[in-house]
Order: sequence, then C-alpha cells, then structure tokens
Amino acid sequence: MALIVQKYGGTSVANPECIGIVADRIIRTRQQGHDIVVVVSAMSGETNRLLSLAKEINPDPDPREVDVLLATGEQVTIALLSMALHARGFKACSFTGSQVHILTDSAHNKARIKKIDGQRVRQALEDKAIVVVAGFQGVDEQGNITTLGRGGSDTSAVALAAALKADECQIYTDVDGVYTTDPRVVPDARRLDTLTYEEMLEMASLGAKVLQIRSVEFAQKYQVKLRVASTFSEEGGTLITDENESKKMENVVISGIAFNRDEAKLTILGVPDHPGIAHAILGPIADANIEVDMIIQNIGRDGTTDFTFTVHRNDYKSALKILQDVAEQLEAREVLGDDNIVKVSLVGVGMRSHAGIADEMFRLLAEKDINIQMISTSEIKVSVILHEHQLDTAVQVLHEGFGLGRPD
Ligand code: ASP
Ligand code: MG
Repeated sequence: MALIVQKYGGTSVANPECIGIVADRIIRTRQQGHDIVVVVSAMSGETNRLLSLAKEINPDPDPREVDVLLATGEQVTIALLSMALHARGFKACSFTGSQVHILTDSAHNKARIKKIDGQRVRQALEDKAIVVVAGFQGVDEQGNITTLGRGGSDTSAVALAAALKADECQIYTDVDGVYTTDPRVVPDARRLDTLTYEEMLEMASLGAKVLQIRSVEFAQKYQVKLRVASTFSEEGGTLITDENESKKMENVVISGIAFNRDEAKLTILGVPDHPGIAHAILGPIADANIEVDMIIQNIGRDGTTDFTFTVHRNDYKSALKILQDVAEQLEAREVLGDDNIVKVSLVGVGMRSHAGIADEMFRLLAEKDINIQMISTSEIKVSVILHEHQLDTAVQVLHEGFGLGRPD
C-alpha cells in the first residue's frame, strides 16, 4: 500500500460531470489499496472571475482581501468533490489550507510555504478517509489566509507530498504529459515517459504550461516523484524524477527542445575594456528589476569591447532606455536592439557524457541556412538566439535531426 497525492487542475473539476470523472478516478486508485490525499484547484475560470469581481469593486484591492476572496474558489471544489465521493459510498473529508496548517509567509498573492504540519491529514487517513485539500492557499503565522500565486495548487500538492513523505505526487491536468517539444510546432512530438527534475526546469518554457515551475523546484529539493498525466485518459503520463530513477538515461542524449518567443536582445558597442564594466552596464538594469537571461561579452580590441544580453520582450523598451543612458556615461560607440528574436534550447542530461552535441546542433541549423546570433551552454542545455521567423524550421530540423520523433 502506498500513499499517493493526486492533484486535479481547474479544467478537471470544471463542472459536476468532470467532478464525477475525478471522483471515479480517485476511487480506482483507492481500490488498489492506496491511501490518497487529493489537492484541487478552483473550477476553471473561477479564479479569474473572482479577480475581475474584485477589480470591479475596487481597481486596487487590498492583497489580503484578494486572498480571502480567491481562496473561496478552491473551497468550493473541495466540498463538491467530497460530496461526489460520498455519493459513491466512499469516506472523504475536505480541508482548507489553514485547517491542515499549510503555513506560509505573509506575502499575500505570492506566499511561500514554510511548513506543513501533516498531523490532521494523517489522522484523517488513519480514519480511512480520502483526504481532499484545497490547493493554492495557506495561512500565515497571524492566521491570515494567503495564496501562492497563479497555478499554485501544483506547489500545494508537491509540498503536501513532501511533508507526508508520499510515494508519488500525481498531477492530473488536460494534457497527458510533457512532450519532446510543442506539438503545435512539431506534430510529430512525442510524450516523454520520464524526465529528470533538471531537464524539466530547463524545459520551463514548455513545461510551464503543464506545471507551475516552482512545484518542480520543490519536488527536486524534497525528492518527490512527480507524475503529470491526463485526467481523461488512462495513459501513464510523464514521470519526473531524479537521474538514477530515470531509467531511459543510458542511451537517450537529448530529451527535448524548448523555445521561448518572449526574448529581446540589446547590444552596447565599444565600451572600455576594464574591470567594472559589466557591473556598470547590468547594474542599472538589475536596479530596474529587469531580469537578464543570456549575456555575451566579446574579446576586447583597441581597449574596447562589445556587450550583448537578452531580456524579456516586455522589458525591452525600458532596458533600451536604460542602456542608452549608460552608453552616454561610458561614451560607448553605439547601442543596438532587436525584439524579433527567439531562443531555442536543446535539453538533455545525456549531454554530460556525450561530446559534439552543440556542433551537431549548429550543423543542422546551418543546413537550413539559419543564422545563429548568440549561443550559450550549460551542462545539460545548449541555447541559441535566432530570428523569430526561423523558429519553426529550427525546432523542426532539430527535432528530426536528434531523432526525437515517433519511431515509424
Ligand atoms: N486557482 C488558482 C489559479 O487559477 C490556482 C491553481 O489553479 O493552481 O491560478
Ligand atoms: Mg494549473
């Protein structure tokens, strides 16, 4: 007998019929003899509906009251799901975040879980109940209701699984797992059976649609086995775990191709090549709370050097303005900017033990006449910056070239 935490997202509990499907699914696991803790989101669209209600009443609502309001969404689903389980003859008991002491800090609307006292849940499990817990919410030291940020129920589920030392945390959603790349770009994309935490984090741009990234960090830290699967299919989904558990590792080098359309690139040319320059350029960017992704500095010549970095497209205009001011102070030659770029990343832990992956990537791109503007690498990832028009072709050629498609 195992202890399993199952999380069902908003689309899985969107209406009474869906809640019935979820209840049947929970019962099937129960009948295999497992203890089950279920975490649910609000019914799909509900959190947005509540938010717009708040905005209608007050354009700038107090974050504490927003949390009191939003937490009701999940409270509705825990009650309805428990009722559905009762209707099927099963013992079930619902709990809000504060009832099971999901203790968070006091950062309303984006609180972080500090501690979970699993006592109440364990007691209910001992009483043979299916335990149904509201996701997304917690309580701070002062007893205020908090919420964890959009998509936060995933993190609630993983945190509960960690606190209860569950055997597996299963995230049920409307997709059936994590894919080698976005099937809208490559119809041939394949669902992955396993993936390591590190790979999942690197694939964030793909994975974020599937899982709140913070929940993966949490799972990695506490070594919680995480499975992403569809509520509406019997397929096994994708298991996210550590490298030793992930059996396929022996021969798979590349797990997937992630991409990000939200990048913009800034370049400052002809700055003095001496200590402190990187700080002089990126300091004001950081002070403006703009996150920098890739950074490249060229080898200096004639006592000057060039510096290029990327930011989120939303920050492009403000970053450009800051850089122009910096350029004036440093008497730089020129500032260039381009917000028509994308980042394509090849991800796989197998890269650690295989040479030549980056070069193979560059060869495949060259064959399609795709110009690489920037390159960065980590132990398990190679990323390139390209013109946005070339995104689809690049992802397709890499997917095919690295043999990621379905075997025919
Ligand atoms: N209901 C919350 C949201 O819509 C939390 C969640 O679904 O994970 O963001
Ligand atoms: Mg979600």
